[in-house]
Amino acid sequence: MFDTAIAGSLPKPAWLAETEKLWPTWKLAGDELAQAKLDATLLWIKQQEDAGLDVIGDGEQSRQHFVHGFLERVQGIDFEHKVEMGIRRDRYKAMVPQVVGALSLAGRVHETEARFLRAHTARRIKFTLPGPMTIVDTVADRFYGDRVKLAFAFAELLNQEALALQADGVDVIQFDEPAFNVYLEEAADWGVKALERAAQGLRCTTAVHICYGYGIAANIDWKRTLGDEWRQYEKVFPALAASRIDQVSLECIHSHVPPVLMSLLQGKDVMVGVIDVASDKIETAEEVADEIGRALQFVSRERLIACTNCGLAPMSRSVAEAKLRALAEGAALARQRYAA
Ligand code: ZN
Repeated sequence: MFDTAIAGSLPKPAWLAETEKLWPTWKLAGDELAQAKLDATLLWIKQQEDAGLDVIGDGEQSRQHFVHGFLERVQGIDFEHKVEMGIRRDRYKAMVPQVVGALSLAGRVHETEARFLRAHTARRIKFTLPGPMTIVDTVADRFYGDRVKLAFAFAELLNQEALALQADGVDVIQFDEPAFNVYLEEAADWGVKALERAAQGLRCTTAVHICYGYGIAANIDWKRTLGDEWRQYEKVFPALAASRIDQVSLECIHSHVPPVLMSLLQGKDVMVGVIDVASDKIETAEEVADEIGRALQFVSRERLIACTNCGLAPMSRSVAEAKLRALAEGAALARQRYAA
């Protein structure tokens, strides 16, 4: 009851990359960088285990950014000539690579870190990949000329890598789709279908993470424009409930998402965000357990997983460590409170 897991990313140590940045620059290169990424992964495996989490991730220590980490191994993409583009309906500007030809994988993307993660923990492991719609929204297309076609092209490549990750021993493969909360009609129309294409043939647990973004200024400003009730999930949850995806990760604590929307996810495991990633204030175990209690009105006990609202990448390391402990302590308290 009440397994615990993080959404995905964790801060990079100061010796690996710039700190508290969404697109940090690496501090090393070549073989030294490759080794340092794995050292940082090992550090966070240990921190997650010590905190008491049930499902362990690699903290995305090997990728600069959750989308571009995958794209670096995709042929047909020009990484040399990045262009500035407004992403998530122009919420913020980012330097993005360009799609300039037919897409294919140059080989495995995350084999090294997935096998490393498998080798260094006996607990269940989760691996994250960007979802097709979010990738489409984070590249400049100069070739396909159609967002749906491009999404399905990426979905095929994601599927190849996901099947290989499953063979590496990954227990949960999660696709991150923050774009589902921005392009509501498209998400319900073709976003979920592209996601299912990416997850096709997987026998391991599949998950999708949908959030309101990292705790960066542009996202915090955007949230202020969304009003008193955030009902974005209402559009896409029915399509997800009808899909083959097993788990849905959503933002909850300190958000304006009405908890009743979770009742649209019948038959799915729900990863409830009980840790805020937009505030350095550490949640108490009571606050976390209270949030789990609220979700229990709409999610059955055996289907509730306690999670973070989003990745912790842009936070300080000490805050992230404390939040991991708060997550595990809050879930432990909830198990006592709601056992009967
Ligand atoms: Zn997120």
